Amino acid sequence: MAFPQPDNSYNGQAEVNDLIGMLAQRTGSAMDLNQRYLNRQLGRVLQTLGFDRDWVRGSGSYLIDSEGREYLDLYAGYGVFALGRGHPYVKAQLHALIDSDPPSLPQLGTSTLAGMLAERLIRCSPGRLDAVVLCSSGTEAVEAALKLARAATGRPRLLYCERGFHGLSYGSLSVNGNDEFRERFGLLLPGCDPVPFGDLDALERELRSGDVAGFIVEPVQGKGVYVAPDGYLAGAQKLCRGAGTMLIADEVQTGLGRSGRFLAVEHWGIEPDMITLSKALSGGFVPVGALLASRAVFDATFDSMENSVVHGSTFGGGDFAAGAALASLNVIEHDGLVERARSMGELLMGLTRPLVNRFEIVREVRGLGLMWGIELAPPSGRAARRVWEAIERRQPGLFAQLITVPLFHEHRILTQVAGHHMNVIKALPPLTIAEADLRRFAAALETVLEETESGLFRGYASLGFNLGRRALSAR
Ligand code: PLP
Repeated sequence: MAFPQPDNSYNGQAEVNDLIGMLAQRTGSAMDLNQRYLNRQLGRVLQTLGFDRDWVRGSGSYLIDSEGREYLDLYAGYGVFALGRGHPYVKAQLHALIDSDPPSLPQLGTSTLAGMLAERLIRCSPGRLDAVVLCSSGTEAVEAALKLARAATGRPRLLYCERGFHGLSYGSLSVNGNDEFRERFGLLLPGCDPVPFGDLDALERELRSGDVAGFIVEPVQGKGVYVAPDGYLAGAQKLCRGAGTMLIADEVQTGLGRSGRFLAVEHWGIEPDMITLSKALSGGFVPVGALLASRAVFDATFDSMENSVVHGSTFGGGDFAAGAALASLNVIEHDGLVERARSMGELLMGLTRPLVNRFEIVREVRGLGLMWGIELAPPSGRAARRVWEAIERRQPGLFAQLITVPLFHEHRILTQVAGHHMNVIKALPPLTIAEADLRRFAAALETVLEETESGLFRGYASLGFNLGRRALSAR
């Protein structure tokens, strides 16, 4: 059957119904459209910080604006672009897949690509995992984990860590350890309780009641970039096994090489009962998520023909998502990106850890692989401390923006604050990032820290004032 070609003369306007032409006609209108139809408050934040660039292209580790300026993107779409933007191999594979007209989402049918992806994920994962739920995002993978944990154990309670982040749909929100995300959205799922990250005694106390279905934990917490202390995850696994509780490792952010191992849990040699994946699996092209579980746990939920579709979602296991994921896994393997994340992470740490001794305002540099964070703290001198406090009174965590804003404006480097009300700056570079780019980031960071700290020491009360005033009025 012949399909109509784009009609470039439609309505007298050239290329009006060709997507790229339509886009070209609207260059420069992203913020205006956002403020009209999308998230106005986000627009205000971007304008306040001056991050409101008109992005027209993404390539590798860079975002490019309409004036052709290139920005090193260490935000990487919250970690989605682990392969960099527009990876040529994944792109070519997806072009070929689209052109092959695959039988995606037959729903009452099975899909070879979905099966191949599940097989591949299982092959890359620790021992006891041999079944997969495919979905389209991180939060969906977490929802699946929580539901399967309850069904497999017949127990009601779920434990999570303070500061933990697992997504923003209701199940995930119920195990979210950050109040700012939960306020105003109650009542959440009953039976969900927090424990301090790293505290095995607290975990043991909670598990003692014998009614805990699952304990969900990130090997490296995304909020604040806190790495699990040595012995914690192994201890948690032992306690969970003893209590008949499912240990769920949320590797949505840490998985697929970012930590310097394919899965971050490999650093501690543990074998969780379930693992969630998403973000990088997409190759930056097609949203995809996965929950890895044991066959026994999987079959406890999908336990009869009647219950064969008791959990799932319309887009889970689609051919384009599975194709993007398989192609991305090929790149990670072929290009040695796990090893690369480890060596580049060591380089970045080596370049930036000395900043703790160089600057009073640097409390700690921490991370694992290419998940990196720097925590800032008030200086000791009384006058400088007063300036810090004045800035923080305007908005807790505002000081960190005095680093991210000049990094962006003066050095064209995009970084993020690692959480609400915290002075931690975070970088999640593509695993493909050039060594020269990491060195440039480290040098730029040092320059900005130097300027900001000397501003503090000179008692520049104006430091951050405009930012603070605009941030307050943008609330
Ligand atoms: N789990 C972790 C560890 C995450 O970092 C995130 C997102 O940042 C999620 C789950 C939620 O993923 P999504 O935003 O795709 O729902």
